[in-house]
Amino acid sequence: MTVTFLGTGTSQGVPVIGCDCEVCTSADKHDKRLRTSIMVEAQGKVIVIDTGPDFRYQMLREGVKHLDAVVFTHEHKDHTGGLDDIRAFNYLQQEPTDVYAVPRVQASLKKEFAYIFAEYQYPGIPKINLHTIGTEPFKVGPVKFTPIEVVHYKLPVLGFRIHDFTYITDAKTITDAEVEKIMGSKVLVINALQKQPHISHFTFDEAVAFAKRVGAETTYFTHISHRLGKHADVSTELPAGIELAYDGLKVEL
Ligand SMILES: [Zn+2]
Ligand SMILES: [Zn+2]
Ligand SMILES: [Zn+2]
Repeated sequence: MTVTFLGTGTSQGVPVIGCDCEVCTSADKHDKRLRTSIMVEAQGKVIVIDTGPDFRYQMLREGVKHLDAVVFTHEHKDHTGGLDDIRAFNYLQQEPTDVYAVPRVQASLKKEFAYIFAEYQYPGIPKINLHTIGTEPFKVGPVKFTPIEVVHYKLPVLGFRIHDFTYITDAKTITDAEVEKIMGSKVLVINALQKQPHISHFTFDEAVAFAKRVGAETTYFTHISHRLGKHADVSTELPAGIELAYDGLKVEL
């Protein structure tokens, strides 16, 4: 299985429009972070978790020519805004795209992308097959997903465990019962926004503590703000086994 980090930035991306801080003006490509998303290639399937506003460019950058499914973590725009561009895969594959989401997220998609679900289907609009998921494990083709329910301020968000890989974005709190589902993962991805306290995201210290608790062989931080600091600087502060993810990073499991 291969995991590709399509984007590793927080909701505004890095650089932030109009910001001239040292991160936003850095020449290091590791400091260019599109909105958070990953692509999982496993058991012959190509699955994207979230389609943020940068989805189109992410597909172009990675040269993706076939997409089997989209799985959503939650309905925030930085995770859903690019859904319209699955049209390209509808055209290439001559079929609707399978989309997996909990009922609350489906309701949001129906509001935000009303035309996709309208009775009158304008020619060329995205075509999707909605699949309802919950907190129980489900399969995308042969690939088993185990949802991990985390809390993002007060909003439940799904992380996912796929074999020995666990992906969690937009988490502030996680119950012990959900942590149990993560234990034994070889690779863990969690959000680490910034060093300053935040109401809805793990801070750097919270993410480090969580990574140590789970004890995966490697933990990658994602959903990173420009306020966290430059990739090269922050990387020197990380304990062994923890790394900052960056756009385009591929992890083989
Ligand atoms: Zn987010
Ligand atoms: Zn900045
Ligand atoms: Zn969010």
